[in-house]
Amino acid sequence: MDIKTKLKKLKEIYDDFEIQARPFKDSAVCKVGCAFCCIHFGNVDAITMEGLIIHEWIETLDKPDQINIRKKISKNMKKREKRSITPCPFLKKDNTCRIYTMRPFSCRQLYSLRKCTHSGPMVHRQAVELAKKTVKKLQQLDATGYSGHISYILHLIAKPDFRELYKSGGFDPVKIMPFGKKYGIIINRMVSSSSMKIMQATSLPSNITEK
Ligand code: SF4
Repeated sequence: MDIKTKLKKLKEIYDDFEIQARPFKDSAVCKVGCAFCCIHFGNVDAITMEGLIIHEWIETLDKPDQINIRKKISKNMKKREKRSITPCPFLKKDNTCRIYTMRPFSCRQLYSLRKCTHSGPMVHRQAVELAKKTVKKLQQLDATGYSGHISYILHLIAKPDFRELYKSGGFDPVKIMPFGKKYGIIINRMVSSSSMKIMQATSLPSNITEK
């Protein structure tokens, strides 16, 4: 399957999730400007396809804006290395999302039935199961790609040789092995067949409560 068809299917998977999750999300208390998830969890994961969409959007920005975003991504990577909680690089000063229409699935799946505090969001158990199934579908679709924190995925996709190989359908995990091991990058085709490891990527926050 070529990358254009895959991107179309990605959108279909998102849409399908939204339709099925709607009855649960209708009870959410989330409001525009509440960025608890974007600030406190720090595990905004993405698959390579999602990274490609965001990368291509970054390329359309004017140069100073591109430099600014890349600096934020790089700062985010460094802070994560020190294991400090750091806001998502795409969070704006007004606590809205700069890439809302192209945000990765790890953001799309989240909502909360109660106002988030230190105890984190509360979601329906059925919605968690639905999200797990959706992650599996995404990783199967992106079988020549990877999953990991959004900043690391964007770092990989910004490299021309990696990007061109990926876009052409090529797959060479050995080339990214040291980076992948260091930053917890997951090979999609290795996890998409294993229900045990699905949530290692594009995961829900660890302190989520299921209802
Ligand atoms: S991509 Fe957008 S919604 Fe997701 S964590 Fe970042 S700012 Fe929040």
